[in-house]
Amino acid sequence: MNLILFGPPGAGKGTQSKRLVEQRGFVQLSTGDMLRAARASGSELGKRVAKIMDEGGLVSDSIVIDLIAEQLDVCAGAPGFIFDGFPRTLGQAEALDALLESRGEKVNLVIRMRVDDARLLERITKRFEEQGRADDNPATFARRLERYYEDTAPLVPLYAERGVLIEIDGMGSIEAVSGEIDAALKQSV
Ligand code: AMP
Repeated sequence: MNLILFGPPGAGKGTQSKRLVEQRGFVQLSTGDMLRAARASGSELGKRVAKIMDEGGLVSDSIVIDLIAEQLDVCAGAPGFIFDGFPRTLGQAEALDALLESRGEKVNLVIRMRVDDARLLERITKRFEEQGRADDNPATFARRLERYYEDTAPLVPLYAERGVLIEIDGMGSIEAVSGEIDAALKQSV
C-alpha cells in the first residue's frame, strides 16, 4: 500500500501517520521530519535547508526526492508506505510515480484531509505554544499555507483523474478522522 496523506500544514497528517504506523506497521515517510532531523544533526544538508524552512518556503524538489528515494530503499519490503508532506509539487509527484514504477508499484490511495483555514490557524497556534516549532509562528505559517495553495493543492485533480483520491473531513476529533481514514483504506482494498 502506497498511501499519500494529503492536506495543508496542520491538517493532522503527522498524527494520523503515526497512528497508522502503530496499528498497521506502515512506514511513515515524512520529508518534514527528515529535514528537521538533518538540521538537528548539523549536517551540510540541514544547513542548506534551514533558511528556506524558517521562511516557510519549499526546499528544492531534488533534495526531497533524494530523501524519499533513499528511504524507499532502506525500508524495502515494508507492508505499506505513508507519504506525509510529500509530494508537494508536480515535479515531486512525477518523481514519486517514477520511483514507485521502477519498483513495480504505484500510488494506491491519496487521502485528502480537508480542514478550513480558520481551524488550521487554531491548531497551529496551539502547536506553536505547546511545541515551539519555529515555522509554526503565525507569519511563517501564512507563507506555508500560501505555498500549499499555490504549489501543492493543484495536485488534487491529477490524483482525482486517476481515481485514487478520497476526500475526508479533517475537521473532527482525532477519533472521528481516524474512523474516516480507516473507512477510506477499507474502501480502496
Ligand atoms: P512539514 O513538517 O511537512 O510541514 O514540513 C516543514 C517544512 O519542511 C516545510 O515548510 C518546507 O520548508 C520543508 N518541506 C517538507 N517537505 C517538503 C517537500 N516535500 N517539498 C519541499 N519542502 C518540504
